[in-house]
Amino acid sequence: MIEQAFWREGLSEPDYIRINNKVHHIIVHHSAGSNIDTNYTLTVRNIYIYHNEILGWSDIGYNYLIAANGAIYKGRDPEGLEQDNVLGAHFCSYNSGTMGICVMGTFTDICPTNDAINSLITLINWKAGKDSLNPLGNYPHTLNVSLPVIAGHRDGCSTECPGSCLYQLLDSIRREVMKVFNTCGFVYKTIETGAKYLHHAEAVFCHGHDVVFIQSDGEPIIQIHLFNLSARKIRLHYEFLAPDRLVFPAFDLSPGIYIIKIYFRNGVYTDKLVILK
Ligand SMILES: [Zn+2]
Repeated sequence: MIEQAFWREGLSEPDYIRINNKVHHIIVHHSAGSNIDTNYTLTVRNIYIYHNEILGWSDIGYNYLIAANGAIYKGRDPEGLEQDNVLGAHFCSYNSGTMGICVMGTFTDICPTNDAINSLITLINWKAGKDSLNPLGNYPHTLNVSLPVIAGHRDGCSTECPGSCLYQLLDSIRREVMKVFNTCGFVYKTIETGAKYLHHAEAVFCHGHDVVFIQSDGEPIIQIHLFNLSARKIRLHYEFLAPDRLVFPAFDLSPGIYIIKIYFRNGVYTDKLVILK
């Protein structure tokens, strides 16, 4: 995902009090902008300038924006809150309970690219898995007593958004998200540790592809060790994705209880890792 610090470089930072928001609905938008422009970062900057400086909003309205090449831009600056839970401004002035995703382009007559659709499905899949949202379900909202959990902007109020073509795709997107749920169980889980340095760990579950991500609070991870209950060290193939983030496969570990130790410069975090079949 492309960070705010990258696309907002040189522009003023938003300055307001963020509100944390429990999400029940994922709202899909289009930007009503160009379908041929390929400078996606400039497009996101322009949307920010439009929302922030012209409309006078606190920040860009959407939680995420997706480009035609499938790149996902982090939208509204969460400043300490979570990107997916910071309250946005995109749903007819009734944003509470929603997360907004804007697919960049105008999808009235033409549909988004496959890359953009795939990123949209991946993002919705992750969020629905994280918050146990039913992709095929409905949940009441102030604007619509039976608002689909995955909804288009026009399901809430009078607007063309997200364009007829993208709107008509929502049903297959819902089914696609459900399909991944059915084949992979819950796909993504965040484990809050509350520990110093190690804010959370993430596990992705899918048959044959189970992996665990370890993400620290920015403190570089030195190394990790895994022990079985006989205190024997297990060979673990892990890979650093960043100094504070690593990943290891869990599918080649036999079912059982393990002790994982994560070493930082000034301390060690120890926890149990339970592998079930
Ligand atoms: Zn919209």
